[in-house]
Amino acid sequence: MPCPRRVRQVRAAHRDQPLYFMPFFKKFRVAIHETLRQISCAMITFGINYQQPGARLSARILNGNVIRDQIYSELADEIAALRANGIRPGLAAVLVGENPASKIYVSSKIAACEKLGLANIHVTPPATITTGELLAIIEDLNSRDDVDGILVQLPLPAQIDAKKILEAVDPAKDVDGFHSLNVGRLVAGRPNLVACTPLGVMEILRRSEIKIEGANAVVLGRSDIVGKPMALLLMHANATVTICHSKTRDLPQTVRRADIVVAALGRTAMVTPDYVRPGATVIDVGINRITDTAHAEKLFAQFPERLASFRAKGSAVVGDVHPDVINVAGALTPVPGGVGPLTIAMLMSNTVRAARLRRGFRIHAVART
Ligand code: NDP
Repeated sequence: MPCPRRVRQVRAAHRDQPLYFMPFFKKFRVAIHETLRQISCAMITFGINYQQPGARLSARILNGNVIRDQIYSELADEIAALRANGIRPGLAAVLVGENPASKIYVSSKIAACEKLGLANIHVTPPATITTGELLAIIEDLNSRDDVDGILVQLPLPAQIDAKKILEAVDPAKDVDGFHSLNVGRLVAGRPNLVACTPLGVMEILRRSEIKIEGANAVVLGRSDIVGKPMALLLMHANATVTICHSKTRDLPQTVRRADIVVAALGRTAMVTPDYVRPGATVIDVGINRITDTAHAEKLFAQFPERLASFRAKGSAVVGDVHPDVINVAGALTPVPGGVGPLTIAMLMSNTVRAARLRRGFRIHAVART
């Protein structure tokens, strides 16, 4: 059975003990090492705390902001090279109506464009627009040479045929990766433009050196936007993937088999510590706002700083993973500051990628698909 990260940390701790480095025969040293490893594994498996009484295991935090900054710095070089050739990649954002959350998302995407020097076009039709009128806007953006990427912010108002709109976006400008042609290419293992959030999760895993090949990965959620493309990317990276959804039986037991868990459920803090195998890597895609004080007091019982911040603001953003999972996981993405920053970074990366693809340039490997 592969050794979880936590066990590797315990092994590393033993390596630092002076006794361990005494000039024993190599075989003897390896035997001690292996015995310690097995004892540590057993202790973790049976929930016995290896450290001082009262101390808890604490996961390595996979900081999305740091990874985003790395990606931005790589993209900045690529954008500078394109601009030296007279090309300024451009993103068009279509925001229908006045949905406050959508407004915040679109303004952070536009801010990212400005930070990186990408051109951006902001189209804001009213919430009363018809499918036909929105199709005409998309057709116009498809035909514009200064637009490399088109983003239609979801959700769209009820009267709009959202599928028709997403299918109308030119697949070469489909930087969200939602067009059926791009989905089909991903299924076939010949990806072109891939959905940003799952692409961002892959960047977190790879840049944090989490072993994907051969790992058991469980994806919680099967949406077109996150769960399905996530599972496909992990499968193409040679993980053994299980996809769970609302009809999955024995969910905690299934999730406990995973070396890598990706939670994209839209259910506040649903993945509790008993779902997680000690040492597993847990990626929390969920974004849920809580405003109920009793709920916050329960969730943040072990996190006085988060509780204080909740009291000050009257709300907090929580993922689909319970904060206490930090005591069990080997590595964990925080919410906020985990997957979220990567979603926008991958949108920027896809826009640059689309600009290159449309002109027949070789693809730069900021994000591997
Ligand atoms: P959807 O609502 O489209 O899909 C949720 C999935 O979770 C469905 O497949 C559903 O199953 C499954 N599910 C829901 N409840 C349960 C349950 N009790 N047990 C098992 N499975 C369940 O959500 P999205 O995929 O769009 O988003 C998921 C989360 O990720 C949300 O919190 C969203 O806000 C967040 N998000 C974050 C992004 C980021 O940048 N960080 C970007 C996009 C989304 P079924 O199919 O059977 O209904």
